[in-house]
Amino acid sequence: MTKETNYGYMRQELKKLADEGNLRRLPQLAHDGRYVSLGEQRMLNLSSNDYLGLADDLDLRCQFLEELTPQDFIPSASSSRLMTGNFRAHRRLELELAHLYGKEEALLFNCGYHANVGILPAVADERTLILADKLVHASLIDGIRLSKCSYFRYRHNDLNHLEHLLSGQLDRYERFIIVTESVFSMDGDRTNLRALVELKRRYPGVMLYVDEAHAFGVYGPQGLGCAEEEGVTDDIDFLMGTFGKALASEGAFVVCDRTVREYLVNRMRPFIFTTALPPINAAWTRFLLQRLPGMTERRERLRGLGNMLRMAFALKGRHLPGDSQIVPIIVGASDRAVLKAEALQRHGFYVLPVRPPTVPVGTSRLRISLRADITDGEMERLIKHLQEL
Ligand SMILES: *Cc1c(COP(=O)(O)O)cnc(C)c1O
Repeated sequence: MTKETNYGYMRQELKKLADEGNLRRLPQLAHDGRYVSLGEQRMLNLSSNDYLGLADDLDLRCQFLEELTPQDFIPSASSSRLMTGNFRAHRRLELELAHLYGKEEALLFNCGYHANVGILPAVADERTLILADKLVHASLIDGIRLSKCSYFRYRHNDLNHLEHLLSGQLDRYERFIIVTESVFSMDGDRTNLRALVELKRRYPGVMLYVDEAHAFGVYGPQGLGCAEEEGVTDDIDFLMGTFGKALASEGAFVVCDRTVREYLVNRMRPFIFTTALPPINAAWTRFLLQRLPGMTERRERLRGLGNMLRMAFALKGRHLPGDSQIVPIIVGASDRAVLKAEALQRHGFYVLPVRPPTVPVGTSRLRISLRADITDGEMERLIKHLQEL
């Protein structure tokens, strides 16, 4: 009786979602390396963020296991890093990150979501104004909402609009934090970080927060991201990246100045009030990170595949948006996107439709996450089927 009355509003809401065709369910996938199976259908996984194909690389796992002893296999930190959960594996990973980026310091987080909901509320006070790109990730939006400060959203990748907003508020705030991603996950396009850094230099009190979740591992001579590629790591105050995408691990980091790290250790709630990453996980991340600079071939392959796909469409007079390993194919209405995704799945490619509210109404799309381990034959077939849709 009480359950019936207490949960009634949830049932109603779920029914509404189902009626609109927007009810989400967890897909029961079986994983087999780069393939996923749904029932009888085995498909190449083009919907994961395993861009370099590291997550299913058995050689890497074997190498890691060779060096591993039961003593090193520490599956839990058993407490927050401020209590007894600060292990050598965490610090060694941070030092490796700081060294690679040429920054003073690095700080680890349990995931990118924690980083993004924690850093901004810690550093932004009433005298701070946040200026965020219209399309930043939900975790950044939540971080902004948890902050005590005011904020504006500027039109996606429109630095003129950003500058217009910023210059109009100079007298009212002491500090400004510009928040963006370097590669945007739904449009697959990139931010011009150099232009952003130039803008920062023109105004006093401006800091830059760049989320490299989809760029870390994929861009830059050492795979450190777009900031490395554009030569601007020094100018980014909060350079944040995640390990759960191209790096085939879990967790996140910020590279920053010593002061910023110490401040976050003292003020950032999702850092303080949580059990630290398992030390074995930090060791695996470091193992991969040390090999990342040497993975140029995989990065070039990935870039080549993106160019191949865009070129094939350009030759047929169709422009595909974006400039990265994420290739959106905009089809318009949601039901069309669903049907087209199902057709591709029948041909053996696991591509998913992206619909509102994730993207604006009328821009439902197929979202293809390319991966470096796609073979030439698979790519040819993929292009053929995409063009027949
Ligand atoms: C995936 C993602 C995150 C969240 O990172 P997790 O480690 O998966 O929590 C944050 N920002 C962006 C842009 C992302 O794509």
